[in-house]
Amino acid sequence: MAGRFEGKQALVLGVANQRSIAWAIAKRLADEGAAVAFTYQGERIEKNVRDLAASVSSPLVTECDVRSDDDVARVFSEVSDTFGGGLDILVHSVAFAAAEDLEGRFVDTPRDRFWMAVDISAYSLVACSRAAEPLMEARGGGSIVTMTYLGGERAVPHYNVMGVAKATLDASVRYLAWDLGFKNIRVNAISAGPVRTLAARSIAGFTTMQTMFEERAPLHRQIESDDCGAAAAYLLSDDAANVSGTTLYVDAGYHAMGM
Ligand code: NAD
Repeated sequence: MAGRFEGKQALVLGVANQRSIAWAIAKRLADEGAAVAFTYQGERIEKNVRDLAASVSSPLVTECDVRSDDDVARVFSEVSDTFGGGLDILVHSVAFAAAEDLEGRFVDTPRDRFWMAVDISAYSLVACSRAAEPLMEARGGGSIVTMTYLGGERAVPHYNVMGVAKATLDASVRYLAWDLGFKNIRVNAISAGPVRTLAARSIAGFTTMQTMFEERAPLHRQIESDDCGAAAAYLLSDDAANVSGTTLYVDAGYHAMGM
């Protein structure tokens, strides 16, 4: 049976290493036939990303700091050159907040670091979706997925400014879905339970979060990044042709609970 992504062209932002949720998603896409281009942020992780990309025969690996409009413009121009002017799939799995803002009190977040978290973790989806729009239009439509967390809807101790950034991201998904739906471009989010990745390690009390999660989630088990890979593959495939502007919870049911 042909894979769901045979002939599809994808760009994945947010792989840092093999634990990254972005990698689990990229692997699924590639396993089911997609050609997958990657970006990485900074020389420190370049080799990791190049090695992983090579393992799925990626046609393009390029640097992107999503804070830079120039980087975003260059990346999408390279993607256009690589993929003959078209893009079907965009995976946005990028977030950042200063470590000190993920341990103290939210009320103490300074202005510059507040905007930095929102810029990197939420505005970047808007910038990348705008850059992807003409390439997806050239293919008759496309699908965009981003990664979010319940801390954007409820107060989760220590998640702090990242929760505010996720709330901005969640609202952006809905407004982007409306704007881009006219061009048959779908925009959705996956709200994941805790997964021990590089980004998760900077959240103070992450281990406690995982323990409480397992105790309270209806399924009483941890989730894996591959669970996000499977859910993203669904949202990015034609199986979800009429799904847009939504959040799919991959959290063993945790979000449904009141205590
Ligand atoms: P990760 O550290 O593997 O991925 C985060 C990525 O963001 C990294 O690749 C990093 O290079 C990139 N990034 C940070 N600043 C950037 C910048 N300025 N420009 C470009 N890229 C930048 O961790 P992850 O857990 O796989 O995180 C991926 C997404 O999943 C994030 O949006 C995160 O908030 C979300 N998420 C994670 C969890 C979890 O428990 N791990 C739960 C829910 C949602």
